Amino acid sequence: MKETLTKIKKAIKGAQTALLASHVDPDGDSIGSMLATGMILSQFGVEVDYYSKDGVPRIYRFLQESGKVKKKITANKRYDLLITLDSSDIKRVGGDLPETGLAKLVINIDHHPDNTKFADINFVEKSSSTAELVYYLAKSLKAKIALAVAECLYVAIITDTGNFRYENTSANTLAIAEDLLKAGVSPPEITTRIYDTKSVASIRVQAAALSSLEISPERNVAWATATKEMMEKNHAKAEDLVGLVDQIRSIDGIEVAILFREEDGKVKVNFRSKSKINVSEIARVFGGGGHMRAAGVIFENKAIEQAKDEVIKEVLKRIKASKYLV
Ligand code: 5GP
Ligand code: MN
Repeated sequence: MKETLTKIKKAIKGAQTALLASHVDPDGDSIGSMLATGMILSQFGVEVDYYSKDGVPRIYRFLQESGKVKKKITANKRYDLLITLDSSDIKRVGGDLPETGLAKLVINIDHHPDNTKFADINFVEKSSSTAELVYYLAKSLKAKIALAVAECLYVAIITDTGNFRYENTSANTLAIAEDLLKAGVSPPEITTRIYDTKSVASIRVQAAALSSLEISPERNVAWATATKEMMEKNHAKAEDLVGLVDQIRSIDGIEVAILFREEDGKVKVNFRSKSKINVSEIARVFGGGGHMRAAGVIFENKAIEQAKDEVIKEVLKRIKASKYLV
């Protein structure tokens, strides 16, 4: 890690401009890590632009600098650095990234085990969140962790650890959280903004999707579907479904939870597992990826019924093959 950090420090100190990019369907970790990195780079005189193809979900818009995030890349603008945050593959950044020439140097900061190490500098380490790695970068740069930066990192860490509940929460995670609290972060203020400011559309669309809940015969796999019609009827956006798949996983005895959703003519699938099945392996079968307990895949050209059939068949096969049933 030390060698990589030295390389990144050198690159930042020699840069004047940087484009920071999150992944499609951004979560708290990709948005928080991107904004924190941007604010840190600004301290070193780097002029930064932020890119998130799908914008910033409403609940993260209280974070400083979130208003500067653009959904499009400025045509023909070139940068000294492109830094991708929380993206296991350059394709996860999505959108209109030109094939070549966007930046002189690409830095990939990520914690996904299936990261393809696509960049010139790959800062890819096992950690609760990409934000933990951004924190180490800030420390190694001796950057000031101002309250605005600390809030971005805290949001990123809690959203990836389920507010410190998941098994990716380590002693390091809590030590970093301690430092962020010392910088002034208020946990109740942040958790209220992240977990207790749901839209009515979100509650309604989640209720509709939950009413489609199906359970496998062995009662260890559960899935629900959010159709285009449910979304439209409830005036819901993709971000209104956040948390639903976690709720399905919370059912007693469920090992794998799946949410199928129709969006922009695509079928998006979110996977969660409780403690035994590696859902990133299942997602990978269909060209997706993620972590052991949280993963996803996007089907560009498949009818939802077909996607459901294929995915459920694969999940049931894996469950059957795994030792945990016996
Ligand atoms: P979520 O279900 O919260 O959107 O995503 C859970 C995890 O799976 C995250 O680490 C996310 O980056 C990853 N993931 C979600 N969808 C996809 C996808 O379509 N492709 C890949 N490679 N990873 C995904
Ligand atoms: Mn993450």
